[in-house]
Amino acid sequence: MPKNYRPRYPDNWEDIANAVKRSVNWKCSKCGLQCIDPDQDSSKLSRSEKMARTLTVHHRNYMPEDNRWENLWAICTACHLSYHTRRKGNVSPGQLSLF
Ligand SMILES: [Zn+2]
Ligand SMILES: [Zn+2]
Repeated sequence: MPKNYRPRYPDNWEDIANAVKRSVNWKCSKCGLQCIDPDQDSSKLSRSEKMARTLTVHHRNYMPEDNRWENLWAICTACHLSYHTRRKGNVSPGQLSLF
């Protein structure tokens, strides 16, 4: 696999991801952590707090090409990381938005 391999995402991935996050009111679907709603002011949060409270969208079947609604799951960074570390080791938080 080439080093820079990236799964293909649809052009409107951002829209899809945002719709999923909005549908859960920016709360992690796994642990219930209230994450940052981009409409709200998060300037008082520290960098690490922002990172911890960033909601990400996970593909339940680990296939980024599969963007059916039921395959998408809005979870916080920590929960997301736990899924990926359990499965295949090292995914840095920065990469998570791609998974
Ligand atoms: Zn969580
Ligand atoms: Zn994921």
